[in-house]
Amino acid sequence: MNKFIVFEGIDASGKETQAKLLSSFLKKKGFEVLLTHEPIYEEPIGKIIKDNLEKKISLSSETIAMLYAADRHEHYLNVEKALSEGKVVISDRYKYSNMAYQGANGVDSRWIEEIEKYSKDPDIIFYIRVKPESAMKRRKEKDLYEENYEFQKKVFGIYENLSKKYNFITIDGERSIEEIHKEVIKNFSED
Ligand code: ADP
Repeated sequence: MNKFIVFEGIDASGKETQAKLLSSFLKKKGFEVLLTHEPIYEEPIGKIIKDNLEKKISLSSETIAMLYAADRHEHYLNVEKALSEGKVVISDRYKYSNMAYQGANGVDSRWIEEIEKYSKDPDIIFYIRVKPESAMKRRKEKDLYEENYEFQKKVFGIYENLSKKYNFITIDGERSIEEIHKEVIKNFSED
Protein backbone atom coordinates (compact mmCIF):
# COMPACT_ATOMS: atom_id res chain seq x y z
CA MET A 1 0.00 0.00 0.00
CA ASN A 2 1.92 3.06 -1.16
CA LYS A 3 0.23 5.85 0.72
CA PHE A 4 1.66 9.20 1.77
CA ILE A 5 0.34 10.34 5.13
CA VAL A 6 1.20 13.61 6.81
CA PHE A 7 0.65 14.89 10.35
CA GLU A 8 0.34 18.63 10.83
CA GLY A 9 -0.35 20.89 13.80
CA ILE A 10 1.27 23.40 16.11
CA ASP A 11 4.29 22.57 18.28
CA ALA A 12 3.59 19.92 20.95
CA SER A 13 0.16 19.11 19.52
CA GLY A 14 1.09 15.42 19.54
CA LYS A 15 2.11 14.85 15.91
CA GLU A 16 5.18 12.78 16.64
CA THR A 17 3.29 10.67 19.19
CA GLN A 18 0.49 9.93 16.72
CA ALA A 19 2.82 9.38 13.75
CA LYS A 20 4.70 6.74 15.77
CA LEU A 21 1.51 5.04 16.93
CA LEU A 22 0.13 4.88 13.39
CA SER A 23 3.45 3.52 12.16
CA SER A 24 3.47 0.72 14.78
CA PHE A 25 -0.17 -0.06 14.04
CA LEU A 26 0.50 -0.43 10.30
CA LYS A 27 3.70 -2.42 10.83
CA LYS A 28 1.77 -4.86 13.02
CA LYS A 29 -0.68 -5.24 10.16
CA GLY A 30 2.24 -6.25 7.94
CA PHE A 31 2.80 -3.04 5.98
CA GLU A 32 6.25 -1.67 5.31
CA VAL A 33 6.45 1.86 6.69
CA LEU A 34 8.84 4.79 6.33
CA LEU A 35 8.36 7.05 9.35
CA THR A 36 9.98 10.39 8.65
CA HIS A 37 9.85 14.08 9.52
CA GLU A 38 10.68 17.59 8.32
CA PRO A 39 12.77 19.65 8.51
CA ILE A 40 15.90 17.52 8.53
CA TYR A 41 18.29 19.58 10.61
CA GLU A 42 21.16 17.13 10.03
CA GLU A 43 21.10 17.65 6.25
CA PRO A 44 22.93 20.57 4.56
CA ILE A 45 19.89 22.79 3.99
CA GLY A 46 18.38 21.93 7.36
CA LYS A 47 21.65 22.98 9.00
CA ILE A 48 21.23 26.51 7.66
CA ILE A 49 17.63 26.57 8.92
CA LYS A 50 18.84 25.40 12.34
CA ASP A 51 21.55 28.06 12.47
CA ASN A 52 18.89 30.66 11.79
CA LEU A 53 16.58 29.25 14.49
CA GLU A 54 19.47 29.37 16.93
CA LYS A 55 20.11 32.97 15.85
CA LYS A 56 23.69 32.22 14.73
CA ILE A 57 22.74 33.81 11.41
CA SER A 58 19.90 36.10 10.47
CA LEU A 59 18.08 35.36 7.21
CA SER A 60 14.86 36.93 6.00
CA SER A 61 11.62 34.95 6.45
CA GLU A 62 11.27 34.71 2.65
CA THR A 63 14.70 33.13 2.37
CA ILE A 64 13.82 30.72 5.18
CA ALA A 65 10.58 29.78 3.39
CA MET A 66 12.62 28.93 0.27
CA LEU A 67 15.08 26.90 2.33
CA TYR A 68 12.22 24.92 3.88
CA ALA A 69 10.90 24.25 0.38
CA ALA A 70 14.39 23.15 -0.73
CA ASP A 71 14.78 20.90 2.35
CA ARG A 72 11.40 19.42 1.48
CA HIS A 73 12.36 18.73 -2.10
CA GLU A 74 15.37 16.72 -0.94
CA HIS A 75 13.21 14.96 1.64
CA TYR A 76 10.54 14.23 -0.92
CA LEU A 77 13.02 12.29 -3.07
CA ASN A 78 13.26 9.77 -0.19
CA VAL A 79 9.48 9.77 0.17
CA GLU A 80 9.04 9.11 -3.54
CA LYS A 81 11.54 6.25 -3.46
CA ALA A 82 9.78 4.62 -0.50
CA LEU A 83 6.39 5.00 -2.21
CA SER A 84 7.76 3.39 -5.37
CA GLU A 85 8.87 0.45 -3.22
CA GLY A 86 5.29 0.03 -2.02
CA LYS A 87 5.85 1.49 1.45
CA VAL A 88 3.48 3.59 3.48
CA VAL A 89 5.17 6.91 4.23
CA ILE A 90 4.25 8.82 7.38
CA SER A 91 5.73 12.29 7.72
CA ASP A 92 5.68 14.46 10.83
CA ARG A 93 5.17 17.84 9.08
CA TYR A 94 5.13 18.72 5.38
CA LYS A 95 4.63 21.78 3.18
CA TYR A 96 1.69 23.10 5.24
CA SER A 97 4.12 23.75 8.12
CA ASN A 98 5.98 26.19 5.89
CA MET A 99 2.71 27.96 5.08
CA ALA A 100 1.74 28.13 8.77
CA TYR A 101 5.08 29.07 10.30
CA GLN A 102 6.52 31.38 7.67
CA GLY A 103 3.03 32.82 7.20
CA ALA A 104 3.07 33.64 10.92
CA ASN A 105 6.49 35.22 10.36
CA GLY A 106 4.88 37.60 7.89
CA VAL A 107 5.58 35.99 4.51
CA ASP A 108 2.76 36.53 2.01
CA SER A 109 0.68 33.34 1.88
CA ARG A 110 0.39 33.47 -1.93
CA TRP A 111 4.14 33.60 -2.17
CA ILE A 112 4.60 30.46 -0.04
CA GLU A 113 1.83 28.65 -1.89
CA GLU A 114 3.60 29.45 -5.14
CA ILE A 115 6.93 27.92 -4.08
CA GLU A 116 5.19 24.95 -2.46
CA LYS A 117 2.85 24.10 -5.30
CA TYR A 118 5.38 21.74 -6.87
CA SER A 119 5.49 19.52 -3.76
CA LYS A 120 3.21 16.57 -4.36
CA ASP A 121 0.02 16.54 -2.31
CA PRO A 122 -0.18 13.81 0.34
CA ASP A 123 -2.97 11.21 0.27
CA ILE A 124 -4.04 12.02 3.83
CA ILE A 125 -3.31 15.05 6.01
CA PHE A 126 -4.12 14.56 9.67
CA TYR A 127 -4.41 17.86 11.48
CA ILE A 128 -3.99 17.31 15.21
CA ARG A 129 -5.95 20.27 16.47
CA VAL A 130 -4.82 21.53 19.86
CA LYS A 131 -5.29 25.05 21.13
CA PRO A 132 -2.04 26.98 21.75
CA GLU A 133 -2.76 27.26 25.49
CA SER A 134 -3.08 23.45 25.79
CA ALA A 135 0.00 22.79 23.66
CA MET A 136 2.11 25.21 25.70
CA LYS A 137 1.46 23.02 28.75
CA ARG A 138 2.96 20.04 26.91
CA ARG A 139 6.22 21.74 26.06
CA LYS A 140 9.34 19.77 26.65
CA GLU A 141 13.03 19.99 26.07
CA LYS A 142 12.99 18.94 22.44
CA ASP A 143 10.96 22.04 21.55
CA LEU A 144 14.12 24.09 21.47
CA TYR A 145 12.84 26.48 18.92
CA GLU A 146 9.33 27.14 20.09
CA GLU A 147 8.44 30.74 19.79
CA ASN A 148 6.28 32.54 22.26
CA TYR A 149 2.57 32.11 22.89
CA GLU A 150 1.57 34.99 20.59
CA PHE A 151 3.47 33.35 17.74
CA GLN A 152 1.84 29.97 18.41
CA LYS A 153 -1.57 31.67 18.30
CA LYS A 154 -0.78 33.07 14.85
CA VAL A 155 0.40 29.67 13.62
CA PHE A 156 -2.77 28.07 15.01
CA GLY A 157 -4.94 30.65 13.21
CA ILE A 158 -3.27 29.86 9.89
CA TYR A 159 -3.65 26.10 10.42
CA GLU A 160 -7.36 26.66 11.00
CA ASN A 161 -7.66 28.24 7.54
CA LEU A 162 -5.38 25.71 5.86
CA SER A 163 -7.45 22.86 7.28
CA LYS A 164 -10.43 23.99 5.19
CA LYS A 165 -8.50 24.96 2.10
CA TYR A 166 -6.53 21.72 1.83
CA ASN A 167 -9.12 19.27 3.19
CA PHE A 168 -7.22 18.25 6.31
CA ILE A 169 -8.77 15.51 8.40
CA THR A 170 -9.16 17.45 11.62
CA ILE A 171 -8.66 15.38 14.77
CA ASP A 172 -9.48 16.83 18.18
CA GLY A 173 -6.06 16.58 19.83
CA GLU A 174 -7.20 17.68 23.28
CA ARG A 175 -8.16 14.12 24.24
CA SER A 176 -6.06 11.20 25.48
CA ILE A 177 -3.31 9.80 23.27
CA GLU A 178 -5.23 6.52 22.89
CA GLU A 179 -8.51 8.20 21.93
CA ILE A 180 -6.77 10.27 19.29
CA HIS A 181 -4.98 7.20 17.93
CA LYS A 182 -8.32 5.39 17.61
CA GLU A 183 -9.77 8.28 15.63
CA VAL A 184 -6.72 8.43 13.36
CA ILE A 185 -7.16 4.73 12.57
CA LYS A 186 -10.90 5.18 12.03
CA ASN A 187 -10.18 7.84 9.41
CA PHE A 188 -7.46 5.82 7.75
CA SER A 189 -8.50 3.87 4.72
CA GLU A 190 -6.42 1.21 3.04
CA ASP A 191 -7.79 1.73 -0.47
P1 ADP B 1 4.73 17.36 18.44
O1 ADP B 1 5.38 16.28 17.61
O2 ADP B 1 3.46 17.88 17.82
O3 ADP B 1 5.65 18.47 18.85
P2 ADP B 1 4.72 15.39 20.56
O4 ADP B 1 4.08 14.17 20.00
O5 ADP B 1 6.21 15.40 20.65
O6 ADP B 1 4.21 16.69 19.79
O7 ADP B 1 4.06 15.64 21.99
C1 ADP B 1 4.47 16.72 22.82
C2 ADP B 1 4.36 16.30 24.29
O8 ADP B 1 2.98 16.14 24.63
C3 ADP B 1 5.02 14.94 24.60
O9 ADP B 1 5.57 15.01 25.89
C4 ADP B 1 3.87 13.96 24.52
O10 ADP B 1 4.09 12.83 25.33
C5 ADP B 1 2.72 14.80 25.03
N1 ADP B 1 1.42 14.43 24.41
C6 ADP B 1 1.21 13.98 23.16
N2 ADP B 1 -0.11 13.76 22.94
C7 ADP B 1 -0.74 14.08 24.10
C8 ADP B 1 -2.11 14.06 24.52
N3 ADP B 1 -3.09 13.68 23.71
N4 ADP B 1 -2.38 14.47 25.77
C9 ADP B 1 -1.38 14.88 26.60
N5 ADP B 1 -0.08 14.92 26.29
C10 ADP B 1 0.25 14.52 25.04
